[in-house]
This record gives sequence, C-alpha cells and structure tokens, in this order.
Amino acid sequence: MVTTVEDLGEFVARVMEDPNLKPGLREYMIALVHETRMQEIQGRSRLRTKQDIGHRKADIWRDAAWLLHPDLDEQGAWLRAKHIVGDDSPRYEMDHSRPTPCVGTMIRPAGAPCKRRVTISSAVPNPMTGERRMIGACSEARHRAAHNAQHKDGWAAWRLNGEPQPANNTGGHMRRYFSYKNWDELYAWANYRYSPGETPKPAPERARLALVTQLPKRPKES
Ligand SMILES: [Zn+2]
Repeated sequence: MVTTVEDLGEFVARVMEDPNLKPGLREYMIALVHETRMQEIQGRSRLRTKQDIGHRKADIWRDAAWLLHPDLDEQGAWLRAKHIVGDDSPRYEMDHSRPTPCVGTMIRPAGAPCKRRVTISSAVPNPMTGERRMIGACSEARHRAAHNAQHKDGWAAWRLNGEPQPANNTGGHMRRYFSYKNWDELYAWANYRYSPGETPKPAPERARLALVTQLPKRPKES
C-alpha cells in the first residue's frame, strides 16, 4: 500500500502509464489513494468540511468520487462511485470489435464466404469454453437456414456439455493495485454482471516513457 511520498510517486506513475486503465478509472484510483492517506494521516474526511452532511461515516469509495466531483450530492457521489467500480468489475464480455459475417458461402467462387450485408445475427457459445461469438446471415434463404442450424446446434452442444461459463476476460484492474478485504461484495454491488474469478493478466506493462526535458523552441512570432 502507499505509505510514503516515494510510494505515492511510484503509484501515480504506474497508474498513468497503465494502458489498460480508462481515463475515469485512473483519476478515481489516484483519488482513492489520496483520500485514504488524508483520512489516515489527518483523520480528515471530505465530509468534515461539508456542513450539511450530518454525521455520516467516511467511506473511501464514495469520498474518492466526491473528491473528483465536489458538486454532487451524496447520492450522486455514490452513483458515480458505483459507475466507475462497476465498469471495472471482473466479468466476461463478448468481443464486438469485428463485424459479424454471414455464415453462408457463395457458389462462385465456390465455398468463398458470403460478403452480403447481414440482416439477422445471434450469439452462439463455444461448447467447450462457453465463450460467445456472433454469427449472422444475409437475406438469402439458404444462408438464413445455415445460420439457424448453427445457432441451434451450438446451444445444444453447449447444454450437452454442462453449460460451461466463460472465464472472465475484462475488468478487475483495481484489484491489481489495491488490497481490499471485500472485492466480491464491492464489485457485486456495483455490477450485477460481476462474476468472481481471476481476469487474465494484462500484456506486459508499457515501458516507462522518458519525459521530454527540453521544450521545443516556439516558432517566432511574426
Ligand atoms: Zn449470405
């Protein structure tokens, strides 16, 4: 955990250079550390400076969100925290980055994949892993029939195989940085799709970038 100023600098560097973190998550993680330190060092909570908040207990998850969005009311701060934590909850997500092709094949050239526009599509599980992929079909009747058959067979095979659930493939970045006693409860609160279990370790961390120490000359004003 971050206890010294050197630790803090190191932490900020790691967070800022981690390509897996979305911008909102970066700020939130840094705010979490800052809020925790302030509460530990000074016994300070943002709540103490807020006159109309009553005697609610400090809570780092809410208070870190509050630190970043001071204008929010308490419910708004909770919602903000929930949104950010939920977005980082470990879970499986289907890859939607590629367009869904038609499953049909063409007569000329024989067997070549159909390139026509897909008008129906559906998700089909891998019977061994449970991972989903999208299949589709254009409006051609034979291609639609092929799509429907693949859809039906895919789900039948998956059920026959004991309905395996796909392993988590996204989220869980905060878990790599912080120790916390109850991630399960927190993530489940923030996202109903949370599923316990490890997420794959991200690709090797990016090499540290050296800061430019000399600023380029500005063009002369004309
Ligand atoms: Zn087609």
